[in-house]
Amino acid sequence: MEFAYTDKVEGLRGQIQDFMDAHIVPKIQDWRREVHAGIYPVSFMEELKTTARQQGLWNLFLPGLKAEEPGTPLTNLEYAPLAEIMGRISWASEAFNCSAPDTGNMELLHMFATAEQYDEWLAPLLNGEIRSAFAMTEPDTASSDAANIQTRIERDGDDYVINGRKWWITNAAHPNCQLLIVMGKTDPNADTYHQQSMVLVPMNTPGVKVVRNLTVVNHHHPEGHCEIVFDHVRVPASHLLGEEGSGFALAQARLGPGRIHHCMRSIGAAELALALMTARAQERKTFGRYLHEHGSVAEWISRSRIEIEQARLLILKTAWLIDEKGAKAARKEISMIKALVPMLHTTVLDRAMQAFGAMGVSPDTPLADHWTWGRALRYADGPDEVHHRAVARMEVKESGDYLSLLDAYLTPYEPD
Ligand SMILES: Cc1cc2nc3c(=O)[nH]c(=O)nc-3n(C[C@H](O)[C@H](O)[C@H](O)COP(=O)(O)OP(=O)(O)OC[C@H]3O[C@@H](n4cnc5c(N)ncnc54)[C@H](O)[C@@H]3O)c2cc1C
Repeated sequence: MEFAYTDKVEGLRGQIQDFMDAHIVPKIQDWRREVHAGIYPVSFMEELKTTARQQGLWNLFLPGLKAEEPGTPLTNLEYAPLAEIMGRISWASEAFNCSAPDTGNMELLHMFATAEQYDEWLAPLLNGEIRSAFAMTEPDTASSDAANIQTRIERDGDDYVINGRKWWITNAAHPNCQLLIVMGKTDPNADTYHQQSMVLVPMNTPGVKVVRNLTVVNHHHPEGHCEIVFDHVRVPASHLLGEEGSGFALAQARLGPGRIHHCMRSIGAAELALALMTARAQERKTFGRYLHEHGSVAEWISRSRIEIEQARLLILKTAWLIDEKGAKAARKEISMIKALVPMLHTTVLDRAMQAFGAMGVSPDTPLADHWTWGRALRYADGPDEVHHRAVARMEVKESGDYLSLLDAYLTPYEPD
């Protein structure tokens, strides 16, 4: 395993950093002002996208990108440090056409779309002309377990008819969101892992009703995390993605590399928090000392640095494993980083907020927004506990001949 950044990656990191400094950071206030005024998408996003694309900083997340497709194909290992830089500002990745959930949806369509589905949905997504959402979670079922999903997708002649209620559907309030990838049951009598399928539902199909955009810890996100009702939504049978009954397998395929992206953006947010905390601790004094001269604050800085480095290395290892052996072989590491990083994200952000005093919970720093998103990531793409469960199950399975291990090491103490 070799995780040192290659010259190519160093060059791209420099390019992304320069882009952030020149085009994104100067727009932070404008973004806030416009979103608070209800202007969304913000007026300058299309210009940012055009500039990023002209510089080759486009669709960097898709290793399988073909020569004729727009963008720069990179391995997961190459992309990870770039996602980290984008993650310092919550809305930056859209400028590079690298934002979730479109990235996961594009990965899925890249693997499974028919030629017709490619032209209608994947081509405009790759061009950044439209956006999309992924609709799996339901208010009425414990959706950590995908086998529970109840939305019905029933075959009716040449169509499928969809009935159900979803919530937390990210992006569904984005005015450019034109596609929903919907997971639901096509055959409740099949075995557990073959009951579900995915269908492509145009956002403007009659019967699709966005009920509300849920706030996240009372934070409004303009792209939306929406509750959506599907009331007799009818789409042609050709809108099925993959095979009937393959929804579970598609969901697994979709979430592999996507988790790397979330985790690397979290590392970016944690790095920003650490940098701000360290700067603030050198500027403010209490009881005759700078904050960093107080032992507890020094320890927050030290622990944050140590934990960020550990997490980044595990993410890079996971990215490397996916590149070398595929997402299936890396599934333990994928669950490990997904269980680890959102908690690290909120922990480092929380320390930085504390170091800023009351300003830490104000809107005058990016810390509260980043903390909120870190907290949400402890559920998105599966809650921490589900990933710990997966890691523990694999660990138990791999533990081999544990009885002879116990025999060898557990020697009963026999007093003389
Ligand atoms: C901001 C945000 C964006 C999201 N975006 C999307 C999206 O775009 N599309 C989408 O479909 N969903 C999305 N989600 C939903 C997310 O994927 C689900 O919330 C998650 O899968 C958990 O499902 P649930 O909320 O139904 O929790 P439940 O399944 O009801 O679980 C509740 C709790 O039970 C515990 N638990 C569950 N299983 C275990 C276990 N095996 N062992 C121990 N404890 C366990 C966990 O603590 C869990 O939090 C988003 C969520 C948020 C907060």
